[in-house]
Amino acid sequence: MSTSTDPTRESEAPAAASQTPESLVRPSSEDLDGILGKPFKVLDDGFIRVVDYMGNDGSIVQAARVSYGQGTKRVHEDRGLIRYLLRHRHTTPFEMCEIKLHVRVPMDCWRQWIRHRTANVNEYSTRYSEAIDASQRTPADEWRTQSAGNRQGSEGRLDAELGRRLSEEEAELQARSREIYAHRLEQGVAREQARKDLPLSTYTEAYWKVDLHNLLHFLALRMDSHAQLEIREYARILGEEVVRRWCPLTWEAFLDYRTESLQLTRLEVAVLQALQLGDDPKAGTEGSGAGSEAGSVAGSEAATRKAESFGWLEPGKSGKWKRNRERAECEAKLTRLGFQIPWADGPSA
Ligand SMILES: Cc1cc2nc3c(=O)[nH]c(=O)nc-3n(C[C@H](O)[C@H](O)[C@H](O)COP(=O)(O)OP(=O)(O)OC[C@H]3O[C@@H](n4cnc5c(N)ncnc54)[C@H](O)[C@@H]3O)c2cc1C
Repeated sequence: MSTSTDPTRESEAPAAASQTPESLVRPSSEDLDGILGKPFKVLDDGFIRVVDYMGNDGSIVQAARVSYGQGTKRVHEDRGLIRYLLRHRHTTPFEMCEIKLHVRVPMDCWRQWIRHRTANVNEYSTRYSEAIDASQRTPADEWRTQSAGNRQGSEGRLDAELGRRLSEEEAELQARSREIYAHRLEQGVAREQARKDLPLSTYTEAYWKVDLHNLLHFLALRMDSHAQLEIREYARILGEEVVRRWCPLTWEAFLDYRTESLQLTRLEVAVLQALQLGDDPKAGTEGSGAGSEAGSVAGSEAATRKAESFGWLEPGKSGKWKRNRERAECEAKLTRLGFQIPWADGPSA
């Protein structure tokens, strides 16, 4: 890690006593300084580049120590403190760090991005200036099919031959809409009106300033597999190329406790307990042993009864359970943890 200040300096003096001037060094990150202004390419013609920033991992530690007092310093190392803060959602210290980015994003993706209200934004104005002459193009092998399970999502790819035709149509549409836009401007139509038929694939640019707490929130939502692939690409680059360099301890903790962690609902905890301990978690699977075959059959049956009691197991057509989103989410977590799905055989089994 390359931070250039002693994060504990200020906090060693009680706040009220620190009235004598002291020379301070502005906290920085050598790794982030090394990429200031460098555009990281995203999609075919988009980018993210860091324009400015304030603070580093040390600034988070420094702010936290003000709230915890000197004593805590002996207990926690910086890394341990940052990890503690993130694990326990003590979030305000992360707001001490800020970053300003210059981004170039297709408008459909920007429409999702701009929903994050906790940033400060200034966007390129297509009332004032001509719209950026670039649209996001889709390569022939990157047309995705509609997901069957998630109405908002996609899965799989169309075959490349069909994709080639779709990409040709896309190029025609983008060229034609640009031609019409240019024609309107030539005829004297105001830019604010001429733009109305430009496609959502048109790139826009913005300055986007956000604090680290809200940036992590953005990344948690937009790096997630439920987010649209295009914005996921921006979030991934922002995380891996920018936050990792800027605040490496925070980035590590964020991966450990947010993106790579697993949250269990009360119902899922009950299913797992039943799997391991049978119908009565307090009594355990006495005699049969949770690891034994008898114990595991008893556990599976108990977990299935739990799922039934939650209304997750309604018989559907063709010998399968009716679709149930909460059950599906629980199944994904059980699979990730290496468990067999106890009710997998379906109602007719
Ligand atoms: C996978 C996915 C699918 C989505 N689908 C849709 C959709 O179909 N339709 C749609 O309209 N949107 C959709 N969204 C957008 C979503 O509902 C949020 O608007 C967006 O993710 C911004 O999240 P946020 O409000 O938490 O972030 P921010 O605006 O950055 O806010 C951060 C946090 O600050 C607090 N906060 C900010 N402003 C307020 C406020 N005014 N009042 C109270 N608390 C506030 C909240 O705690 C909030 O979580 C989707 C988002 C994702 C990730």
